[in-house]
Amino acid sequence: MNLAQFPRRGYVKHPTPIEFLPRFSEALGGKVKVYIKRDDLLPGCAGGNKTRKLDFSIADALAKGADTIITCGAVQSNHCRLTLAWSVHEGLDCHLVLEERVPGSYDPEASGNNLLYHLLGVKSITVVPGGSPMMDEMEKVAAKLRAEGRKPYIIPGGASNEIGALGYVACAQETIQQMFDLGLDFDHIYVPSGSAGTHAGMIAGFVGNNMDIPISGIDVSRPGDVQQEIVYKLAQKVLDRIGAGVQLPKEKVVCYGDYYLPGYSRPNPGMVEAVKLLAQTEAILLDPVYSGKAFAGMIDHIRQGRFAEGSRILFLHTGGSPALYAYLPTFLG
Ligand SMILES: *Cc1c(COP(=O)(O)O)cnc(C)c1O
Repeated sequence: MNLAQFPRRGYVKHPTPIEFLPRFSEALGGKVKVYIKRDDLLPGCAGGNKTRKLDFSIADALAKGADTIITCGAVQSNHCRLTLAWSVHEGLDCHLVLEERVPGSYDPEASGNNLLYHLLGVKSITVVPGGSPMMDEMEKVAAKLRAEGRKPYIIPGGASNEIGALGYVACAQETIQQMFDLGLDFDHIYVPSGSAGTHAGMIAGFVGNNMDIPISGIDVSRPGDVQQEIVYKLAQKVLDRIGAGVQLPKEKVVCYGDYYLPGYSRPNPGMVEAVKLLAQTEAILLDPVYSGKAFAGMIDHIRQGRFAEGSRILFLHTGGSPALYAYLPTFLG
């Protein structure tokens, strides 16, 4: 579990706060105490979870002599915004391939993350239809840049490979240290589960440190069993890479596919309620695609009475609030 052996850039200078949510906990009946880990406050333009992963991914790119970064995401991708932002910070060019997962959803004049792509000086945007083979599409961009004499490096969607996921092993270790410092023992942890690096890294970090706290992933794009397999494979790869010598028990990977419908990035009433409730009780902004849906899942589980009185629950807030500004009719309606 020695993360110091892996190159990183040092983007995460301080632990992100763990805060108690008194008014929100009260709004849910006050039987359980809900805490939030503020990865929405990570450094990097407008914050969010990809900073922890890019700390390792961009270090790998620089170690390999890259001068250009290529990555991909959906049309309102926080990962694309942060990859571009940290590329600017490092003096690297950045090219984006955007997948139009919802037909007709790419609007070159949209607000939110799309506005930030342009403000941050993206070198090119290639829009491809939903379901396109994203690695192949990024390889096409790379081949063109290589022919122009550039040295491109491809970061996969969400930086969710065994390199980027190390950022969430580091987050798990940071959380364990904070639990000790604050004298807080959590009964359960909730995380959003998308391209899976966050969820897999957290599991690897907790299991690798022999911390037996259940972690529930709330899916944002896939049914539970499909997502579980993806998270499991990546978590095992990460455990192997950090030399934990652990065969991951299947039951450590728990994914709930009940909260993302009607589909990735498409709003649902639970998400809208969750975003409004946290904003109006604690003035903390979630996002419509990831943290809002994951928070809605946690709210539903608490309302179902799954937790004993006095339980302490930690929600990992992965950020994403810039996307709110691309969803005005959803929240003003
Ligand atoms: C990417 C993202 C997630 C999901 O993290 P993964 O590692 O892709 O599973 C959650 N929340 C926000 C705001 C994100 O941008």
